Amino acid sequence: MSPRGWAVLTLAGLAVALIVAGALLIPWHRPPAPRADQLAALRSLPVDQVARGRAFHGALRPAAWSALAVGLVVALVLGLTPLGARLVALAGRPFGDHWLAQAVLGGLAVLLLADLLTLPFAAWRQTVLTRYGLSTQGWDGWAVDLLKSYAVSAIIGALVPLGFYSVVRLAPRWWWAFGAAGAALLVVLLSFVLPVLVEPVFNRFTPMEAGPLRTELVSMAARDGVPVRDVLVADASRRTRAVNAYVSGLGPTRRVVVYDTLLREATPEEVTSVVAHELGHARDRDVWTGTLTGALGAALAVVALYLIGSWTPVLRLAGVDSVAQPRAFPLLIALVTVAGLVATPVQALVSRRIEARADAHALALTGDPVTFEAMQRRLAGVNLADPDPPRWEYLWSASHPSTVERMAAARAYAREIGR
Ligand SMILES: [Zn+2]
Repeated sequence: MSPRGWAVLTLAGLAVALIVAGALLIPWHRPPAPRADQLAALRSLPVDQVARGRAFHGALRPAAWSALAVGLVVALVLGLTPLGARLVALAGRPFGDHWLAQAVLGGLAVLLLADLLTLPFAAWRQTVLTRYGLSTQGWDGWAVDLLKSYAVSAIIGALVPLGFYSVVRLAPRWWWAFGAAGAALLVVLLSFVLPVLVEPVFNRFTPMEAGPLRTELVSMAARDGVPVRDVLVADASRRTRAVNAYVSGLGPTRRVVVYDTLLREATPEEVTSVVAHELGHARDRDVWTGTLTGALGAALAVVALYLIGSWTPVLRLAGVDSVAQPRAFPLLIALVTVAGLVATPVQALVSRRIEARADAHALALTGDPVTFEAMQRRLAGVNLADPDPPRWEYLWSASHPSTVERMAAARAYAREIGR
């Protein structure tokens, strides 16, 4: 069988693996709380809080959609016309058109151009965050954050094409197989190292100071069967007033992180409720689920790129002979951008199911739906959430159930346990 035949077979195998993993690991059967409870929850929220959350999201929307549209247009123009290939060639010219220069500098040029063209929308977003008092950063702090994130993407954006085109040269017929394995491995590696390598670039993490709250959190984690060495506090207040918590990392790098803003804004009982939700993620191995599905998706994407990329009409549009040459990098970016767009609502749906399970875990672990609901109300108030967002926006990108869904879930749980 030809490499192409094997690629088709591998693609089918990966698709089946992804579907099976998704069916087994994602809690699909989790009906949302009754709409009547949601509406009752909505009515219980202060009218001005709801209005402010809606106004804030209305103000963010034009910047977000413009950034998405411009990013898509830039990717398509560079990838599906010869412009991108010319840009890559230009970047390699001072170095005698060497493939290495084309791969690294050309790749960086494409990514940087996309970043620069969407920069005005990032600034627009920042003006909205400032106007609504959610950002605690001046433009200097914002610019430093931006440069840091450019630096992180530049490192990844240089290493990925470098690795990719090295493999292509070493295995001209089978690069897609090595590339798929490499992409999957990279996803797993990133899950391990992000919390220790990348997160500290943006925030300082300190162990929560000893006291009744820390003692309660650590003992709750032990009771839950997910012992944590430490609860880390991130200095999020240098950037935002918003409150949050999360788990990240795998095995030795696993950590529960709470924002310092959360400790400042919420009662100890509410913090406990938030951490109970995070323990749900740890207990259900949600980081592993995300890593595994991400790794399968990345491998599948590489094989699909190989197959689509050997389609002559697409190559002709991009003005290249083969997807395996560095000048075709913009074409790869265009295909990945479109795939990312298609995957957005699917990822959001999966995330909402997983978040709803973590909420159910928090309710069961604390047995305290009243505090859970108070915590949701506080989170929505401080973070300027739209408690009941427009349906299309929710389906497109909401990573969590809405505030009213989460409050309604607490009310349903309270009825269940008879409180
Ligand atoms: Zn969560």
